[in-house]
Amino acid sequence: MTIYRIALPTPLRRLFDYLPPEQAAARPLPGVRVRVPFGRRELIGILLDVTTESDLPAARLKPALEVLDSEPPLPHHLLELACWAADYYQHPVGDVLNQALPVALRKGGSIEQAPEIRWRPTADASLDALSGRAPRQRQLLELLLQHPEGLGADALRQSGFTNAQLNSLNDKGQAEYFEALPPPCASGDDSQLLKQSPLVLNEEQQEALDAICATPGFNPVLLQGITGSGKTEVYLQAIGRVLEDGRQALVLVPEIGLTPQTVSRFRARFGVPVQALHSNMSDLQRLEAWRQAREGLARIVIGTRSALFTPLKSPGIIIVDEEHDTSFKQQEGFRYSARDLSVMRARAEQIPLVMGSATPSLETLHNALSGRYRHVRLTTRAGNARPPRFELLDIRQQPLDEGLSEGVVGRIRNELAQHNQVLVFINRRGFSPALMCHQCGEVIGCDRCDARMTLHRSPPHLHCHHCDHQRPIPRHCPTCGSDDFKPRGAGTERTEGALQRLFPGTEVMRVDRDSTQRRHAMQTIMDRVHQGEPCILVGTQMLAKGHHFPAVTLVVILDADAGLFSADFRGMERTAQLILQVAGRAGRADRPGTVLMQTHHADHPTLMQLVNDGYEAFATRELALRRDSALPPFIHHALLRTEASRPGRAEAFLSALCGQLVAGRLMPDSVQYLGPLPAPMEKRAGHYRAQLLLQSYDRRALQRLLTELCPLLEQLPQARQVRWSLDVDPVDNF
Ligand code: ADP
Ligand code: ZN
Ligand code: ZN
Repeated sequence: MTIYRIALPTPLRRLFDYLPPEQAAARPLPGVRVRVPFGRRELIGILLDVTTESDLPAARLKPALEVLDSEPPLPHHLLELACWAADYYQHPVGDVLNQALPVALRKGGSIEQAPEIRWRPTADASLDALSGRAPRQRQLLELLLQHPEGLGADALRQSGFTNAQLNSLNDKGQAEYFEALPPPCASGDDSQLLKQSPLVLNEEQQEALDAICATPGFNPVLLQGITGSGKTEVYLQAIGRVLEDGRQALVLVPEIGLTPQTVSRFRARFGVPVQALHSNMSDLQRLEAWRQAREGLARIVIGTRSALFTPLKSPGIIIVDEEHDTSFKQQEGFRYSARDLSVMRARAEQIPLVMGSATPSLETLHNALSGRYRHVRLTTRAGNARPPRFELLDIRQQPLDEGLSEGVVGRIRNELAQHNQVLVFINRRGFSPALMCHQCGEVIGCDRCDARMTLHRSPPHLHCHHCDHQRPIPRHCPTCGSDDFKPRGAGTERTEGALQRLFPGTEVMRVDRDSTQRRHAMQTIMDRVHQGEPCILVGTQMLAKGHHFPAVTLVVILDADAGLFSADFRGMERTAQLILQVAGRAGRADRPGTVLMQTHHADHPTLMQLVNDGYEAFATRELALRRDSALPPFIHHALLRTEASRPGRAEAFLSALCGQLVAGRLMPDSVQYLGPLPAPMEKRAGHYRAQLLLQSYDRRALQRLLTELCPLLEQLPQARQVRWSLDVDPVDNF
């Protein structure tokens, strides 16, 4: 008897047995997709094994419907990586494999290239045949006449032309359509590897490049370089060598960092096809990009977290830019770290891996300092740019005008007078983080969360940033009936307004999630900034990432204290990273920059060390503190989060679990548990949440326990009343 063991995208942590389909061809390879009946539905799964035995009696096995592939979409080592990740992160393997494939393949699309509809001008097409009243049709025909080989219908629609316009040209006998395979790649060809000559590296950059290329095979490198030190130039030259060998590069960037600038820098340097995987692509476009990577046509692939599983025909290097960025960790469902898995992938593919950052995560820094990764540093800015100078501005007892001290206002005025640009950073969007009744002190909270509602002015409403609940601003205080409300504290909207009032002659531009929702909004702001005229940029951490503002000479951090006293032990690390990333925007060209930090804690030892001695000094001290307090990266964490609609249930569930662990002697001595405890924000989006932290110095012991834990959790009688999730190596403990 032949049995297919198949991973299906269900929440169940097991494989499913099926008989071969009725017209089964040859024995299929592990990794191919199979369509199967599942209850009343059909699902597409991945074949993991072909065996001869099943736990189920043969009579209960159903035949699969169809084997979809002749060869597996993912190469064997990526299939293994996905299965390893399913075990490690305790997530159902069927769902992991599903997420490792492009959406179009999950739905059953073919990995063979599908023909597309293309349009071309007819043999006797002529602009003279069109009347002057249809300018768009005219533009369309002009475009088609420039491309007699034809243009894809999708591409035309993306350039803003409509089906109606195409059909109309067709009716007039000017344009016709046909089916053809899409051209191999939209951008560039192999004939010319370098379009732009590489810069002459400085000594440190050269050392970094040598370290990356030092050994053939697996070679993980932490490239720690201050902002503007020329990390990207090192990536480009390392990629250049890989391309010369006929191999491909995979570049992972943070969510927000995938700006057109990053991609255009790669396209400007190399003549080879560069594929960017970004969120504005359709499923079919993504599939096409994936296919070109898999077939070796795309030579450089740039993408966010999910691009980690993109197969490469001849892998040559993986680069993880801004490796400290938490967007590399998926925070729901399959909670994997693309950075950590990239280490596994590079090892399997026996290629170098570069993790670059000005402010490396303590995990990666620890690995570098303990010799597991090579560690190279870029300590000076490339070219003639100089690093910014830091100043702590003590605002204790100083009057504040909507959060702005006189010192800050004076310095901004100075800078604008010298025709420079200013960046004001405040990591809170909205007008004000709290709306308070002036009569009785009541602060308007969210009904569904243990949190305050943020006041927004444009348009006016209250918004909970934790559950996204929005409602009108109340007229009367729910407690005392007064209508005397006062906003407490400032967010980006309020700061923007205050700066407009103080500097009426200067353009003030706000950059946050609200102001950049419209398409091209960000691009419009960036274009304006790049013209170099004096202006003020106000924004959240969206401003901190990857942008290049050559004319900004003053960066103001309005609330440098924000993360200093966080309940999360990572608060200090995040604050330091954010401050240095924002600071890195200043003075990147030939004008020197200053970073002015408003603080009530100008003598805080950590702040002082950070600004005086730099990130590595700060991080080394922070690592020592982590070691002494038995915290990651020295100890390993797994966080079991639960939530239920009634108070107490989530905790009771965890208590029952702990009871079983103790009674069954399942808890190894080397693993400790803390809790169950209510989550730091107990109520969120209407659910009551609790958590249990498991920790151990012995990763294997922790992993063994987790593997036993999941079936136990599924069987607990209370499991129907709660939702639970397990987060291995969490990046936050909330
Ligand atoms: P990072 O990625 O570390 O922020 P970049 O690679 O973007 O730094 O470099 C910052 C600026 O310095 C860029 O404008 C870049 O063109 C320039 N640059 C980098 N390396 C060199 C070099 N060796 N010589 C001259 N300019 C350089
Ligand atoms: Zn009141
Ligand atoms: Zn809420």
